[in-house]
Amino acid sequence: MTSSFSKLSLAEPLARAVAEMGYESMTPIQEQAIPVVLQGRDVMGAAQTGTGKTAAFALPLLQRMMKHENASTSPARHPVRALVLLPTRELAVQVAEQVKLYAQYTNLHSAVVFGGMDMKPQTLELKKGVEVLVATPGRLLDHIEAKNTVLNQVEYVVLDEADRMLDIGFLPDLQRILSYLPKQRITLLFSATFSPEIKRLASSYLQDPVTIEVARSNAAASTVEQHFYSVSADDKRRALHQILKQRELKQAFVFVNSKLGCARLARSLEREGLKTTALHGDKSQDERLKALEAFKSGEVDLLVCTDVAARGLDIKDVPAVFNFDVPFNAEDYVHRIGRTGRAGASGLAVSFVASSDTRLVTDIEKLLGSKIELEPLEFEEDRPRISEQGRINDGRRMYREGEGPSEGSGGVARAPRERTGRPERREYTPHRQPAASRDPFFDQPYEPSTPAQTQPAWEAAAKASPAGSGVSANIKPKKKVAALFKTSN
Ligand code: AMP
Repeated sequence: MTSSFSKLSLAEPLARAVAEMGYESMTPIQEQAIPVVLQGRDVMGAAQTGTGKTAAFALPLLQRMMKHENASTSPARHPVRALVLLPTRELAVQVAEQVKLYAQYTNLHSAVVFGGMDMKPQTLELKKGVEVLVATPGRLLDHIEAKNTVLNQVEYVVLDEADRMLDIGFLPDLQRILSYLPKQRITLLFSATFSPEIKRLASSYLQDPVTIEVARSNAAASTVEQHFYSVSADDKRRALHQILKQRELKQAFVFVNSKLGCARLARSLEREGLKTTALHGDKSQDERLKALEAFKSGEVDLLVCTDVAARGLDIKDVPAVFNFDVPFNAEDYVHRIGRTGRAGASGLAVSFVASSDTRLVTDIEKLLGSKIELEPLEFEEDRPRISEQGRINDGRRMYREGEGPSEGSGGVARAPRERTGRPERREYTPHRQPAASRDPFFDQPYEPSTPAQTQPAWEAAAKASPAGSGVSANIKPKKKVAALFKTSN
């Protein structure tokens, strides 16, 4: 049973902000966490992203800080009192935006700092004085070392997406940051899972925390229709085109496992006429924010991304998520598909499973606790014909005469050994593109080009999908964090 924010007796400026956000009732995590934080207890929370977690910690912290609120312009009157640490720049920006909205009618200032951007504008913000500082760990340490901020008056710390921070290897940074803070404080830790490492982190830094778990962290949203298609690496792009078209999808996230694979796939899809942008960790901060904005505004239809985008990004109405590569971590599957079917909307999650992915699918089965049925993907019939222009026209796509689609792109999808005898596989080039035996673009960093067309992307993309990049060899295993606990105090 959900209840209204009015029973919290929030200060008027906070209540007004919440009302303006249009929130009618508290989400389960808010209902459970807000009263506990208001009482001043530490919290260890497991909540899926998209559950209203940010308000669950931000509102009670702002409420508790209202006693310090003042209209002075002196930075000394606005010391950092709450520190929110997050693993990625995107999440930091998103949480900071929400905090700003909740605090908009108060005199409590907030700021966000993250890496990959010039430090100067962030320094200017910090020097003005901020009560709530949202940060990624590395950049925060840079600012601490540059003496741009001091943390000796911090009363509240939030470690958000803590498991992700440990996965990325932020434990030493977290330990250093926490060592700068007063011992007397409230600490809130949110994590998708309570792994042994997370429990250790909690036992080192939290005092008698209240554990709050609103939903099984590994539960996939029930509003998401999930399909696992058996598709060879070479057929994945074609399968993507087909499903986009058949389902009349307007936008989708396409997840891949490596940064290089991400850039390559985005580039290929763009060449095939889909309005695409890429989001991965090697992109500059500016490029990453621009990619997200382009997707949010509908300027691009496909966001090809690595797991940097899997967690926490709150983009409403993403109709579908494709796992172009099955994720290496089953938990990432849940996070990836959590990008669709948000806020009760229905969503579609499609995974392309190559024969080498069997073990990964078994891991997902174990996590979800239900059997996964691998489905064959029937490709639409495309018997090439010679068109009047001397091109081969398959009814939907056009090829240069003699080039033909790549292996496996015609007829019903079959296992490789069952395929009918086709000419040796070769690079095919859609007729709108100049032919090239090898694309030098793949040797360069990905740069989005200006979308040339305004048609619905997959309708306009009347081309076949050549061989996909498949699962890349450029995949780094996640860092093991257990060892770090042993070396640090
Ligand atoms: P979060 O899990 O904090 O990223 O929040 C996900 C989305 O839910 C954000 O767009 C919030 O603005 C929205 N949200 C948070 N709390 C509520 C609420 N009580 N009612 C409706 N929407 C909410």
